[in-house]
Amino acid sequence: MQSEGALRQKIIDLCLEMNRSGLNQGTSGNISARFGESMLLTPSATPYDRMTPEMIARMPLDGEDGTWFGPLKPSTEWRFHRDILRARPDAGAVVHAHPIFATTIAITRRPIPACHYMVAAFGGNDVRCCGYARYGTAELSALVVEALADRHACLMANHGMVALGGDLDQAMWRAVELETLARQYYHSLQIEGGPVILSDAEIAEVGKGFASYGRQSEPSALAPGVSG
Ligand code: 13P
Ligand code: ZN
Repeated sequence: MQSEGALRQKIIDLCLEMNRSGLNQGTSGNISARFGESMLLTPSATPYDRMTPEMIARMPLDGEDGTWFGPLKPSTEWRFHRDILRARPDAGAVVHAHPIFATTIAITRRPIPACHYMVAAFGGNDVRCCGYARYGTAELSALVVEALADRHACLMANHGMVALGGDLDQAMWRAVELETLARQYYHSLQIEGGPVILSDAEIAEVGKGFASYGRQSEPSALAPGVSG
């Protein structure tokens, strides 16, 4: 297991990266990592370039009332971070952001279908869009957890997206790939006739390939140059 200090710093590094790359903007978005029976979570409304490791909140995963340890209030979305980590033992980290294209599709409240084989990186033949509930609510958390069943990411109606991974790198890799997929889908919708959607059988075939395609827990899992 990575040390608590290393995880805290890695969360900040990824926050800075997601804003630098344009995946997110301002103080929107939040990132968590599992640490034993707790989660480490970004503080609420704190500019990422002023965030220091001790500002990252620690919250027990079995907590019900939002108790946290740290100098700053944790993200308003602590409920869905906690609930995802509880519901998904395979998840070690959760990235939430408001990327332009994923959020644009989420504003239309539609899922991303199998318009590209990379949809299989999210665990199925689509990326669902959960229903709308106000940010920070238990209702939103329940909707997100439901939309993530058998999936590694979902869109959030009129809000943004969530991606999870075995570790922070994998969760961020999926967040970046989801925004790319959303962008490709958005552009294909502009062309007369729209996208051609891959069949369930074609996506299942890709899913099988992914199982042996590099190391799934690494961000380079789908890097070119891996045979077989
Ligand atoms: P926080 O600053 O409280 O993490 O909220 C940002 C956000 O994206 C809410 O959905
Ligand atoms: Zn948000």
